[in-house]
Amino acid sequence: MFKALLITKPASGYRCAVTELEEAELPSSGDVTVAVEHSTINYKDGLAITGRSPVVRSFPMVPGIDFAGTVLESQHPRWAVGDKVLLNGFGVGETHWGGLAQLARVKGDWLVALPKVFSARDAMAIGTAGYTAMLCVQALQTHWASAGVAPGSGEVLVTGANGGVGSVAITLLAQLGHTVVASTGRPEEAAYLKGLGATEVMERGPLGEPGKPLQKERWIGVIDSVGSHTLANACASTRYGGAVAACGLAQGMDLPASVAPFILRGVTLYGIDSVMAPMARREAAWSQLAAQLSHKKLAAFTREIGLADAIDSASDILAGKVRGRLVVNVN
Ligand code: NDP
Repeated sequence: MFKALLITKPASGYRCAVTELEEAELPSSGDVTVAVEHSTINYKDGLAITGRSPVVRSFPMVPGIDFAGTVLESQHPRWAVGDKVLLNGFGVGETHWGGLAQLARVKGDWLVALPKVFSARDAMAIGTAGYTAMLCVQALQTHWASAGVAPGSGEVLVTGANGGVGSVAITLLAQLGHTVVASTGRPEEAAYLKGLGATEVMERGPLGEPGKPLQKERWIGVIDSVGSHTLANACASTRYGGAVAACGLAQGMDLPASVAPFILRGVTLYGIDSVMAPMARREAAWSQLAAQLSHKKLAAFTREIGLADAIDSASDILAGKVRGRLVVNVN
């Protein structure tokens, strides 16, 4: 038997509870069984656990788009018993049972080797939010390298700054020598954001409201996890030749923008997807995360909770009440 969060959809309602399951109930479509040590709560897990958006595609479902742990059984040529692994996305926790459980059975093709410098807990302090922040950073780095833009030559905006993607993005950019401006609806968290490396904390204000199609040029790059008016305004205030990496929709899925920044200032908008990203891109992201993030850096934005706490935390993350990253100790 093992413990898991289980989402069920009775005739009326939607339910998520800690449940005892038998190993034989794990999905037969997987070829690697993992003893999960830690998982995490991302924004998408919040949507799945509360049922706020139709993230979960089949029931019953074990949520959790991320996990890290040790291989217990493997029919996959790449993985052997005892290997330390992590998983982000690939529909796990949406269409295939996920990581908010003590055991997971998944396809070996979806697993990434846990970088040696990280424990399972470290990897989940990063989780999909942090791995996505790195995908955004790498898109901007590639863009800047081709445009000859050096770190420190201009300001980089990070929106949704107190969130998981935002907190890790600030940490990574500051460490690379960039001047980071953090946009937040929680200016009372300015000391936390400056501690991560932001040089300026900007209250969300007009950035989150309808704005002009072209605004004063300010950013050499933007990492946006918010979407909607925030993304439109971020594009409108990006400097000539700059780039915006868009990965989220915390404010909304809409993009009420004009083409002006793209056709008059040569601004580039990069779409960032972590869920189906090819393995080479995942491994490159995890390798740079391992090189850049120390235990001390991770501790600055991480809080640990238990499996049962994950249910309340799901509502909190959707309400924008979670600061940084939540690691779930499933044992
Ligand atoms: P969090 O909830 O941790 O962070 C979101 C942050 O957005 C909040 O902390 C808050 O920051 C800000 N925010 C919340 N509501 C609003 C609002 N109404 N208007 C403006 N800002 C708001 O989530 P994550 O960091 O885990 O994820 C962020 C987004 O990125 C989500 O939409 C998620 O789905 C998406 N995502 C996409 C991925 C991909 O593959 N493309 C992968 C991972 C995440 P503050 O309090 O500082 O204002």
